[in-house]
Amino acid sequence: MKAEIIAVGTELLLGHTINSDAAHVGRALSALGIDVYHSCVVGDNPHRLEEVLREGLERSDLLITTGGLGPTEDDLTKETVAAVLEMPLEEHADSLVRLKEYFGTRPMGPNQYKQVLLPRGSRALPNRIGTAPGCYARRADGRAVAMLPGPPRELLPMLHEQLVPLLAEQTQACICSHMIRTFAQGEGDAALRLAELTGRANPSTATYATDGEMFVRVTAKAQDAAAAEALAAPVVARVQELLGDVVYGVDVDNLESVVVPLLMQRGQSVATAESCTGGLLAKRLTDVPGASAVFQTGLVTYANSTKTRLLGVPEAMLARVGAVSEEVARHMASAVRQRSGSHWGLGITGVAGPDGGTAEKPVGLVYIALADDRRTWLRVMRPQGRYMGRAWTRHRAASHALDMLRRALLGLPVEMTATARGRF
Ligand code: ATP
Repeated sequence: MKAEIIAVGTELLLGHTINSDAAHVGRALSALGIDVYHSCVVGDNPHRLEEVLREGLERSDLLITTGGLGPTEDDLTKETVAAVLEMPLEEHADSLVRLKEYFGTRPMGPNQYKQVLLPRGSRALPNRIGTAPGCYARRADGRAVAMLPGPPRELLPMLHEQLVPLLAEQTQACICSHMIRTFAQGEGDAALRLAELTGRANPSTATYATDGEMFVRVTAKAQDAAAAEALAAPVVARVQELLGDVVYGVDVDNLESVVVPLLMQRGQSVATAESCTGGLLAKRLTDVPGASAVFQTGLVTYANSTKTRLLGVPEAMLARVGAVSEEVARHMASAVRQRSGSHWGLGITGVAGPDGGTAEKPVGLVYIALADDRRTWLRVMRPQGRYMGRAWTRHRAASHALDMLRRALLGLPVEMTATARGRF
């Protein structure tokens, strides 16, 4: 099978964004044994996009586009592909349901609707992260166009979880894929550590970062499932060996889905006292089915007065070191542990931003503490360079708390410095 990649986006032409999508797609295709003979970048211009699509369909069996699927006026990939393939756009019912679910009670602008219009007879590729579904449209003569979203964090899961298995069926290869998840592991550092594996085509090893975590996907191709698994297994083991204890799981959903079972196995419980994360840590713990066996108490002590009233944080301490401080985080963790009668206590206090920072306590500074009945451990998230936003800061702080507990439960060192483990 001959394929080509068409990356759509004026920002790519201008050099504002590096075309990393093409690299991800190219690697995935070559792992499937699909020949990639052309790759190009085209701006958000329907005429020029039409030109490259027509040219591509003349000489290749499969075109893969990236970008231009979103709700804005210049997102024109689906419209243009539909016209070239002569497969008119029509509403895709399941995608509309997903889009409505995504918006929930928030109003959905009229532009959003166009994302669920797909070429008639095409196959939708649901978007697990964002709003725009991808799709795979195959013309009567067998030539096909697969459309993927631009943002790598949306493209990567869709590529590996949906498009690769679909293409594997066509190439009659059996694909086996495993996801190794790490926390507090920089992508650049991981790439160096995994250098011996990343050059190989089968199994292929790809790293990517999303939501402040770094994932490694190992994909093997063979004639049957057992042979593919036999190829992948030693590489998965080698990735774990090379990355060490920053790996928190293989084929798991997230940190909380690892921490809750670890607590269950030990018959232990955890309580949380949160300030800047506003209950996010408790929410993530209770997202895991069966969490009631290990989690009974989560306090959100947002105001200083509540920190004092519910957790006994001394007013004098708050006046001396401020609410965003090591001492207060440690006190919150110990107090919630003790007052709830839990084995472990977690405390989080910080400046989630975007406002409220000072020179001494900048936006993005968060203290996270873990307590047992003997001691407390502390991690500090210090903004390094760019402030990553409120949602990122809060999610990351909750992830640190979960990772601290995971490591304590496994008897691993809990505290870490930014320099020891890459960027916080
Ligand atoms: P959205 O739903 O976010 O609009 P989209 O599918 O329409 O997604 P674009 O609008 O084309 O995608 O691009 C959105 C962002 O995705 C870009 O600003 C850029 O950051 C990133 N992006 C797009 N194309 C690429 C690419 N080829 N490589 C890396 N990043 C890309």
